[in-house]
Amino acid sequence: MQTSANYLATRQAGLDLLAKFASKAGPDYARGRNFDCGPHQPRAVSGLSPYVRRRLITEQEVVTEVLKQHSADAAEKFIQEVFWRSYWKGWIELRPTVWHGYQTGLRWALNAVQTQDGLERNWRSACTGNTGIDCFDAWAEELTSTGYLHNHARMWFASIWIFTLRLPWELGADFFLRNLLDGDPASNTLGWRWVAGLQTVGKTYLARPENIEKYTNGRFSPTGLATKATPLKGPENPPCGTLTHADPIDTALATGLLIHDEDTDLTHIIAKNLSLRATATLSSHTTIAPLKAADHVVVFSQGALRDTLDRLPPKHSAPHDVKGFNDLLTWAQTHGLKQIITCHAPVGPIADLLTQVRKPLGEQGISLTTIMAPYDRMTWPHATHGFFRFKDNIPHFIAQI
Ligand SMILES: Cc1cc2nc3c(=O)[nH]c(=O)nc-3n(C[C@H](O)[C@H](O)[C@H](O)COP(=O)(O)OP(=O)(O)OC[C@H]3O[C@@H](n4cnc5c(N)ncnc54)[C@H](O)[C@@H]3O)c2cc1C
Repeated sequence: MQTSANYLATRQAGLDLLAKFASKAGPDYARGRNFDCGPHQPRAVSGLSPYVRRRLITEQEVVTEVLKQHSADAAEKFIQEVFWRSYWKGWIELRPTVWHGYQTGLRWALNAVQTQDGLERNWRSACTGNTGIDCFDAWAEELTSTGYLHNHARMWFASIWIFTLRLPWELGADFFLRNLLDGDPASNTLGWRWVAGLQTVGKTYLARPENIEKYTNGRFSPTGLATKATPLKGPENPPCGTLTHADPIDTALATGLLIHDEDTDLTHIIAKNLSLRATATLSSHTTIAPLKAADHVVVFSQGALRDTLDRLPPKHSAPHDVKGFNDLLTWAQTHGLKQIITCHAPVGPIADLLTQVRKPLGEQGISLTTIMAPYDRMTWPHATHGFFRFKDNIPHFIAQI
């Protein structure tokens, strides 16, 4: 059975999974990817997302490995899915207020849960898999026990949550974010908005019983699902902004390395050959959601950070685990740091924290230098419109990789 314990939070485990999967990324994937045969069954999808999400393995590594075994045409579907991830990351990076709007909506909805008995009951039933809708209840159980759900199940689940159970979409997105090993502010928020009809204006996703029956190989045949999915109302998508500029690095300054779990690929920082005085880690699990993240998410996030440290030279041992701004400042001052270097954190809780601390750190004479991965700098600026326009760049991206 697939459980969260199957997902060891190490780069090696990610590489092993990729090596095992790569030969199936061609026609097998295209044929079977929409089928969700359940947690006990073999599946056509890769299960790589927890590793890519924390960048224990990178998008380039996934694409390169797959292209060793298939032509770009044969692996087109799979490669496109990997670039969906880059598209969502870029889309929200260019419009960060969508993440903040989701957080405001979530706070409002959590408040409503506390004051409205009916809403609280329905929300709890949905999260504990006690709605009486067999497929939905099974997916709630699978999510909370394994930390993974098939893409099609995520779409059906979100659709039933919004249009059949009529629960606020933000509560559903939050339930996912607290339980998914790959829980990601971009793919998750925008995936839920897409189902709700907020992302592609006027377009919703309706979970249909016959579609569920077909793609679960007859495991489920739900009745009583909504037959209409009227788009939710919300503000218009904000205009597309620009990416932040790269921070300048001053190699003469006493520098400390801050490793966070939004991007554990330190290749671009290590390549700078800086002399680093101290190392600290920062995990997103405490701030990803107002309610506590599931234990398996905490374990995976902390494991990813530990594995990243284990792969660094020994001088990085005994790192400090940063808990918030004051702690970060104390760590920096204890080591006499004048510069903190870190991977650029994409839109999400770590980016929010880094934005908050940048100025107060500066006032203490400590600069914060973030390094954006070249892959992100290459792909994100193209997420200006819909995926179909973004997709035209895939051959160019592959050539650059
Ligand atoms: C409501 C909803 C919420 C979602 N929440 C998340 C989330 O929090 N984190 C997350 O990583 N993905 C999310 N997704 C996207 C998708 O469901 C997962 O990326 C995918 O199921 C991961 O499983 P896999 O690695 O086996 O995918 P595969 O099919 O093997 O795909 C390979 C890789 O491509 C990327 N990918 C595949 N499908 C998508 C997609 N639709 N959107 C973006 N990237 C994709 C992932 O990085 C994945 O690892 C969500 C989708 C929906 C509809």
